[in-house]
Amino acid sequence: MWERKMARRRRNALKEIAFDKHDKVLFPRTSLRQFPRYQQARRTVAKLKRQVSDRRNDKLQKLTTQLVQDFDVIVVEKLNTQGMLKNHHLARAISNAGWGKLVTMLQYKCDWYGKQLIMVDPKYTSRICSACGQKNHQFDGLSQHEWLAVREWQCPTCGTHLDRDINASQNILQRGLAQITPIKALA
Ligand SMILES: [Zn+2]
Repeated sequence: MWERKMARRRRNALKEIAFDKHDKVLFPRTSLRQFPRYQQARRTVAKLKRQVSDRRNDKLQKLTTQLVQDFDVIVVEKLNTQGMLKNHHLARAISNAGWGKLVTMLQYKCDWYGKQLIMVDPKYTSRICSACGQKNHQFDGLSQHEWLAVREWQCPTCGTHLDRDINASQNILQRGLAQITPIKALA
């Protein structure tokens, strides 16, 4: 709403500047700074954006504090930066940025509270059955889009019915816990 207003006021201001130049008026306006209504819209848009980002930050702060207080070991998947570079999809880029921020917060809060953050390679964590450890090859031929639409599946090896996200989380946790040496785990 305000973004559209800002764009319109900017367009109009630029037109006015062009008119002034064309008509050779005595005191031509040459800068967008000379258009207070455009400047007002610009400030409002900046403020609204800041509010959204502050709110998001606030939620992340609360969530990460809660997680670090509740758990001694937290396992997350390593952010796939290569995939991010390859994939220019905006939503993906934004969610990756949010994820990176979340992991950064978890990292310094784990340091503060003496908790452990473990990052694991998320490769195949969605396709391996967390009950029997077998990879489900039925998904190998699917496109990325088709694969993402699979929310639940049944393991062809052991028959367990799995929720996509919960199964992946179980695998990530198992991978993370496997990285802790027994001595470290006791300490
Ligand atoms: Zn299985």
